[in-house]
Amino acid sequence: VIILLCSNLQWTEDKEQNRKQMKHTITLIPGDGIGPEIVSATVRIIEATGIEIEWETQIIGAQALEKFGTTIPDSTIESIKRNKVALKGPLTTPVGKGFTSVNVGLRKALDLYANVRPVKALPNVPCRYPELDLVIVRENTESLYAGLEHIVVPGVVESLKIITEKASTRIARYAFEYAKLHGRKKVTGMHKANIMKLSDGLFLECFYNVSKDYPEITADDKIIDNACMQLVMRPEQFEVMVLENLYGDIVSDLCAGLIGGLGLAPGANIGELGAVFEAVHGSAPDIAGQGIANPTAILMSAFMMLRHIGEFDAADRAEKAMMDVYAESDVRTRDLGGTASTADFANAIIEKLK
Ligand code: ATP
Repeated sequence: VIILLCSNLQWTEDKEQNRKQMKHTITLIPGDGIGPEIVSATVRIIEATGIEIEWETQIIGAQALEKFGTTIPDSTIESIKRNKVALKGPLTTPVGKGFTSVNVGLRKALDLYANVRPVKALPNVPCRYPELDLVIVRENTESLYAGLEHIVVPGVVESLKIITEKASTRIARYAFEYAKLHGRKKVTGMHKANIMKLSDGLFLECFYNVSKDYPEITADDKIIDNACMQLVMRPEQFEVMVLENLYGDIVSDLCAGLIGGLGLAPGANIGELGAVFEAVHGSAPDIAGQGIANPTAILMSAFMMLRHIGEFDAADRAEKAMMDVYAESDVRTRDLGGTASTADFANAIIEKLK
């Protein structure tokens, strides 16, 4: 028994040692607008936890178009496929003209089908729902985001909404598995199946089919317009919500507003080939280059990333440091009514980590 105990202890120590020494290689995409500012603040905080990461910096979007003649270079896709994980700043998508969304292109190229967006209020951040704690699971590959648009005749445009049984079943299963893993008791499917009877009807049908495999979790549904009103009036009734791509996009911003704004909403894009962690918000060109953006959303995405690669301790410590800054100090970026710069806020967290 003693020999067994000793070898077990040795094994645990070896495992701990391996974990400590393990070096991760992660693809880093600084992005556009405020991207480089918030990404570099996040990298500094992650490195302050002491874990070893080799960052493989890649470009994508307008910068890549200029350098490589394509918005999504193969080298970036290959890097993410090789490393299986990326931390990504926001990318600018031209409105109405120019190249198609690189965010959408990247998700398609890597089949990052599940977009997970936790919505949780932070301590001492004034918001409408300080107790709110829900999760959005957004289908990431189809719906109107398939970008299939064409001019039928001048003055008439058709945009195709693609909904498939395969993608709807896959995202519903992801949502129920997520609920099971995280001890959530209810999953709500959101749709407009009363009007789009075939497309949203199929999404809803797949949702309820999958729900049968999870009898311990309550499955219900809400029509999307009513869901938006309910989210504003009584958001505590929701735990995990699963939506097709466009509804998921809109409801994500709505939910960010419930907890204090876009600067606070993290996200992860998950697929079989890899995972890309990024904030819900865009590149915020109105405040870019001023060093005043709030890095919280991408930082929280990075905490999700650390847990995804098994660095639970580093994630817990960095998250606690950030929570302590919110709970115990008045260091706040301007979106939250403070005067701190992006770097000041990061420094306050790094100070807590020491
Ligand atoms: P996209 O279409 O790329 O999602 P968007 O239209 O949703 O972009 P954002 O770039 O997300 O727009 O910005 C919306 C508003 O929120 C802007 O006024 C911007 O300054 C603000 N904002 C977004 N992110 C942050 C942040 N991290 N810190 C402070 N303000 C932010």
